[in-house]
Amino acid sequence: MPSSENSDNPAKLANSALVRMVAQDIPPTPENYTVWYTYLSGRDPDIVHMIDQILGAGTTFTEERCTALYLRCKAFTDSELEDDREAAFVDASANLGKSVESVMSLLEEAGAGAARYGETLADVGGALRGVDDGDRVRQIVSDLVSETQRMAEQNQSVNERLEQSNQEIAELEQRITDARREAMSDSLTGLNNRRSFDEQLRRGAEDSATNQTPLSLLMLDIDHFKAFNDTHGHQLGDEVLRLVARCLTECTKGRDIAARYGGEEFAIILPDTDIEGAIAIAEQVRETVNNKKIVRKSTGESLGGVSLSGGVAQYMDGESLEELIERADSGLYKAKNDGRNRIAVIETEPGLRVVGGTNRA
Ligand code: GH3
Ligand code: MG
Ligand code: MG
Repeated sequence: MPSSENSDNPAKLANSALVRMVAQDIPPTPENYTVWYTYLSGRDPDIVHMIDQILGAGTTFTEERCTALYLRCKAFTDSELEDDREAAFVDASANLGKSVESVMSLLEEAGAGAARYGETLADVGGALRGVDDGDRVRQIVSDLVSETQRMAEQNQSVNERLEQSNQEIAELEQRITDARREAMSDSLTGLNNRRSFDEQLRRGAEDSATNQTPLSLLMLDIDHFKAFNDTHGHQLGDEVLRLVARCLTECTKGRDIAARYGGEEFAIILPDTDIEGAIAIAEQVRETVNNKKIVRKSTGESLGGVSLSGGVAQYMDGESLEELIERADSGLYKAKNDGRNRIAVIETEPGLRVVGGTNRA
């Protein structure tokens, strides 16, 4: 069990993490440091459990165990980040509700003030009728002037407060838009995250069925990425994930949706695109990634390149989204088996009809 005395002191935690790593003969890489820092902070019960088990069994922290621990740790941090973003979104929405309520009450107040003023005017109209006393008329007019003055002042204060509320609402709306965008994007690559992918695919399929327009899905996976990480480290691996994401963005346009599906897997949803169009885009993405040269910035050392394998499927009448994803995945699996760095398509079942397009022969 990690000791709890340091858990709220980052400097002590950092020191203890290094000491424990040295004691366990664990290489002091940034990845391993992340794992031990998380362990000692006790934030992630799974990491605590996994490490306690290894320590309890007295087995060594092999490179593979360390990698597995790091990936688990990273997934935990990512999910914490997503939870924070979700919380920010809910917070901003609640504040917007409060601001709208305050504008409503301001408007009600202004309405009540105007109604009172209307009554005063009506009273004055009635009082003036049949009055022939000059002093009384002066008194009525003087009352009217002060009432008008009060109304004008109240209007100004209500207007100022309304203006301020409007500004607050505009700012909150912007924050909600930002928070929503963040909650839907992958923190490492900036692409749509898995949650956004699921939502967009559902919407895309609904549109496709309603308008009878084609919809295609492309699943992509980096080839031999484990070996890349093992050779060059996870940080450079993360840079490659960002590079691949940029290639996806470069090759997509309009309503196409590029997403990080998970780990080193990516997906592109292609509305209004039949299987032939989808294969063309898939090839373009594959080639763009294949042509990139990876260079270690700190030393200028050339590290070669990475490649992608991909599977493509077009949405068919009546199939579930799971089935669509499974067919694209089967294509990906075939591309891997056929030698990688290629795109494969699983032919549609004879007798089934793709939505809004012709079946591939
Ligand atoms: P294949 O060609 O069959 O896809 O081989 P692979 O090595 O790419 O596939 P495998 O499923 O064996 O390993 C996937 C690797 O992807 C394991 C892990 O190191 C790496 N990976 C997953 N997520 C991340 C991440 O967020 N950052 C980094 N750097 N690596 C990641
Ligand atoms: Mg994979
Ligand atoms: Mg892979």
